[in-house]
Amino acid sequence: MVVTRIAPSPTGDPHVGTAYQALFNYIFARQQGGKFIVRIEDTDRTRYNPDSERRILEMLEWLGLSPDESPTKGGPNGPYVQSQRLPIYQAHAQRLLDSGAAYRAFETPAELEAARKEAEKAGASYRGYNRRYRDYPSAESEARAAAGEPFVIRLKAPLEGSVVVQDLLRGPVEFDHSQLDDKVILKADGYPTYHLAAMVDDHLMGVTHVIRAEEWLTSTPFHILILRAFGWDEPVWCHTPLLRNPDRSKLSKRKMDTSVDSYRAQGILPEALLNYLGTMGWSMPDEREIFSLQDMLEHFDLSRISLGGPVFGLDKLRWMN
Ligand code: GLU
Repeated sequence: MVVTRIAPSPTGDPHVGTAYQALFNYIFARQQGGKFIVRIEDTDRTRYNPDSERRILEMLEWLGLSPDESPTKGGPNGPYVQSQRLPIYQAHAQRLLDSGAAYRAFETPAELEAARKEAEKAGASYRGYNRRYRDYPSAESEARAAAGEPFVIRLKAPLEGSVVVQDLLRGPVEFDHSQLDDKVILKADGYPTYHLAAMVDDHLMGVTHVIRAEEWLTSTPFHILILRAFGWDEPVWCHTPLLRNPDRSKLSKRKMDTSVDSYRAQGILPEALLNYLGTMGWSMPDEREIFSLQDMLEHFDLSRISLGGPVFGLDKLRWMN
């Protein structure tokens, strides 16, 4: 069964970009007789905003894009709130430690910073992590962890070769392994990083199609490494074009109003917002500009999304209303 998801981070106002992703994921799941999941990615505690979580879910309900499984509706496997699933991620990180695909690194933040500065001074072309603990003897690593010393867990990235992301819209995109770091998958406070949590959840939730914004394409090689380390299959990857400001930079609240709640407050109807978002990067086969969610369900074709970054502007939205 086709399973899609959106995974918003509750950090602020419900964003039009989230509505845009929700629209495509919802429609594709419905067309395929599948399931659309919402997962709240709240593992970055420094940016967490409890009000934001509620407002994102309300926004989806207002748009008529309610998930099949969600914190509000429950569902057989819900609710999906990552901060409530920490033992799952910790057990998975442990699995990668046990198999040797990952390792503990004991640097303090100050030590890491000093190493970075040193590499910079030495003119190293790539200034990622220096992999100091990659081949550290496991008995010593165990002993230091058992003694209560703080550590992070990092995934071993291959040192040579490359990984190819097969993207539904772009075709094959190749990334050199030498550009990948031994990235952190579990932080010192026991929280997973986005990368680990997203891939563990996508696997456990049976996600078959990862349809998300283009900005995540460069994280995908690392996501593939995580999946391979567990021996899991890849989903279909589909990275959709970013919504843009009129000056073509990435849509941002500094330049545009990106809050769906603010459009709601101005009296914009949900049908108009959906219609407008539907025209961003996609068009009806007969080029008609006014269409409903039902029309999209009948005619939408995921593989026909065009890659030229669509410009988001309020004036047209007002006109459609
Ligand atoms: N939390 C990420 C976001 O806010 C999700 C990225 C993904 O879909 O994997 O966009």
